[in-house]
Amino acid sequence: MNVRRVTVYDSRTRETRVFAPIHPPRVGLYVCGMTPYAPAHVGHARTMVVFDVVTRALRRWGYRVFYVQNVTNLDDKLIARAADEGVDPLALAERHFAAYRAAMERLGVHSVNLYPFATDYVPEILTQIAQLIERGFAYRAPDGSVYFEVAKFPGYGALSGQKIEALRPGARVERDERKRAPEDFVVWKASTPGEPSWDSPWGPGRPGWHIEDTAMTVRLLGERYDLHGGGLDLIFPHHEAEIAQAEGATGAAPLVNYWMHSGLLLFEGTKMSKSLGNVATLDGALDEYGAMTLRLYYLNAHYRSPLDFDPVKSLPEAREAYARLAQPADRIAALLARGGPEREGAELPATLADAAPAFVERLDATLAEDFDTRAAIALLFGWTRKLLESGVNWDDLSGPALAELRAPYDWGSEVLGLFGGPTGDAAGAWAEIVPVAIAARTRARARGDFAEADRIREALAAVGVRLEDDARGTRWSFASAP
Ligand SMILES: [Zn+2]
Repeated sequence: MNVRRVTVYDSRTRETRVFAPIHPPRVGLYVCGMTPYAPAHVGHARTMVVFDVVTRALRRWGYRVFYVQNVTNLDDKLIARAADEGVDPLALAERHFAAYRAAMERLGVHSVNLYPFATDYVPEILTQIAQLIERGFAYRAPDGSVYFEVAKFPGYGALSGQKIEALRPGARVERDERKRAPEDFVVWKASTPGEPSWDSPWGPGRPGWHIEDTAMTVRLLGERYDLHGGGLDLIFPHHEAEIAQAEGATGAAPLVNYWMHSGLLLFEGTKMSKSLGNVATLDGALDEYGAMTLRLYYLNAHYRSPLDFDPVKSLPEAREAYARLAQPADRIAALLARGGPEREGAELPATLADAAPAFVERLDATLAEDFDTRAAIALLFGWTRKLLESGVNWDDLSGPALAELRAPYDWGSEVLGLFGGPTGDAAGAWAEIVPVAIAARTRARARGDFAEADRIREALAAVGVRLEDDARGTRWSFASAP
């Protein structure tokens, strides 16, 4: 087995440990996904970009990651929103989930293997609830709901550091008579008329919030698995409940070997919420800043730190920072694309030739310390400064020399999802195809068929190729920032 040594900060043990998968090189990764009752916002996107990079990096380092991200396609919020809109809640979830997938495509998040829907796992949910009742961890309330009895699970609170007494509501809070204790949580909700419901041994109902996760993971990843991710706000009660349910139902512990939690996105100091308007929606932010600026903004912070979403300051800064990094990366890619990897020219000056091969190794080694994307990006800025200060005339360089200069940016493309545009062998193919398309566009313009000329320009733009017309003809390059 040839995988890189990686360390991970585990929220449960509160320490950074060497990552040791249960069945190396396989890695089971589960991340809490969307409840698609409204458009995704920039806070969700931070979590998704963080775990996209975790997955890309682990795959690069030889791990075979199976990444599952659930979709809570039925819950109280969906039912309430669907009632407001006069539509079916499951259809509402489908619609928002389709929009979410499209936004993730725009954002360059392609790493998820499976998006299971909660309502497709009702049989597994019923099995798990039956196990919990049989083992004495859950009970049926008179109305047909089933609750997890927190007092029966001694480890409850270990992940979040909460004490059960702290969870008990004060005297002013109305007591729910169906529960044996206030901290008990529902795993099966007796349905009210008009809601989607399923038959169960306890009466018609629907899954509680937490149970879908563990029913899915036992089925898809096994009773124990390697890595669980999600936003910090999910530690309590959601992830605490997951541990109690799965370990209670199966007896296997620990459910998860490494819990990774990404920091919250703050909006001028307050927790992100859906009430903040359009710029806070992922689509709005993608329209305004573009995918590359957003990714750089998210990744240029430690994933566990809180991050301020500041449309006036931090986002424009990220846009400028990205432009500084992308300018040399794009220029080298364009030169490679035109000449191909066999392009003839000068070799690298000694100062760069020595530095280039070791640099990608430094990037990998840096990121492998608990996925420190901020430190890796600092290295990329250092590389960019080095190139610009070297005074090398890039236009004169050979294909292999250019490829070495570009290698750290190619790493940024593969692992961080920055810097568009293929290089290497693929660049040669583009160098063949794009001039043919440009020639066709030039002929269309010559005969006055501007609609056809525009169509060709747009088709090229759609695959990231930007055209520039000047007196000498049409030049082209890869556009990094869509
Ligand atoms: Zn979840």
